[in-house]
Amino acid sequence: MQKPLNWIKRYPAVLILFILVGVGLFATHVLATYQQITIKANVVNVRQGPGLSYDTMGQASKGEVMNVISQKNNWYQVRLSGDKIGWVASWLVNNTEVSATSNRVATVTNDFANVRQSSNASSPLLGKVNKGDKLTVLYQQNGWSQVKYNSAVGWVQSDLISISNEAPTAVQTDTKTDDSSSQSTSDIKSVTTQLDNTKLRSGPGVNYAYSQVYSANTKLTYLDKSDTWYKVKDSDGNTGYVASWVVTPSAKNEVVKTSATSLSEATIVLDAGHGGNDVGALSNSNKYEKTYTLKTVDAIAKKLKAAGANVVLTRSSDKFVDLAPRPALSNKLRADAFISIHFDSSAQSNQASGTTTYYYSNSKDTSLANALNNQIKSLPLTNRGVEYGNYQVLRDNERPSVLLEMGYINSDQDFNYISSSSYQEKVADAVYAGLQNYFK
Ligand SMILES: [Zn+2]
Repeated sequence: MQKPLNWIKRYPAVLILFILVGVGLFATHVLATYQQITIKANVVNVRQGPGLSYDTMGQASKGEVMNVISQKNNWYQVRLSGDKIGWVASWLVNNTEVSATSNRVATVTNDFANVRQSSNASSPLLGKVNKGDKLTVLYQQNGWSQVKYNSAVGWVQSDLISISNEAPTAVQTDTKTDDSSSQSTSDIKSVTTQLDNTKLRSGPGVNYAYSQVYSANTKLTYLDKSDTWYKVKDSDGNTGYVASWVVTPSAKNEVVKTSATSLSEATIVLDAGHGGNDVGALSNSNKYEKTYTLKTVDAIAKKLKAAGANVVLTRSSDKFVDLAPRPALSNKLRADAFISIHFDSSAQSNQASGTTTYYYSNSKDTSLANALNNQIKSLPLTNRGVEYGNYQVLRDNERPSVLLEMGYINSDQDFNYISSSSYQEKVADAVYAGLQNYFK
């Protein structure tokens, strides 16, 4: 717990600003995972095509969030509010993890279909597509489909086309684009496994049963995408799902010589407690809890990433992040495990010592809590066991989640461990081993 800070009372506007900035930064991080970008310059022109030579069709202001449809020549094709589509320069936006969303393929079933600038019959005509032509459909509304058309977009009446379940890999009208740098899923024709023991599962998640196991360097036909999983077909005709981060799409093929485990297919959300103006509890030397939660999370993240897991952090720097977005991230990603790291504090200095593993839901969290605590027991600090804890990050979490108090920050003995990188490494080892057992 932290003491109320006097300056908060004196400067409430500053606190609100901190919170807004913190939430904003967090939202950027979260949304980036969902192929969205945030405008970083004060005003950005939205253009009709990927280059400065294209006419502007509007402007976007700082902080505005947009969905990315595709990427070309350092420009992002984005969906704007009101369903308009335009292009923004990538260097004017904040983005870390852009890859295009999976769109659908449609075939023109009428003799021809007019492609129009917007979704009504009186809007300017951009051109015409003919029976049998294939189109990538971006969006549908009120009887109209928004489609890619000559590296831009247009609208056709939905009743003149037929949407197939085919992945948009063979879209003829897209051949004019030459975006070799594009990470669009529409470019993926096959994927190659990076690891031995990669599993083909019946659904897009680690909880689904697996029917096939592949060795590294196995080529699979790409069929579709579901969140962060690829639907694929092997050479024997078996179809199922593989985690996107354990395979390499199409030509690129960097084989990593290690074995896939269930952990390597899992999405783990790591939550470093506190951050920014929320400093957490204090050590006897007035060091902040937030510093060591982040260091410990970094050590855990490194370990889990090395094991191939899809690791997502609720914060990766000293930023304020509110409580609600932390479990929300876990829910949104359908994380296989959510682990929050904190350090305890007793009323008086040097009054208490040791580690505690907290869970909230008996049915959902206890097996994760036990698996982790069984390893945490082996750490040099006394283990206080597995306890029920009514914490918001656990309470609002729909995914298996735990909160680990990895020592008392206001115990001199514990703080010597907490602040040492060797203890942080040991915590990482324990979490890694615990998760290995949990996902067995
Ligand atoms: Zn804390």
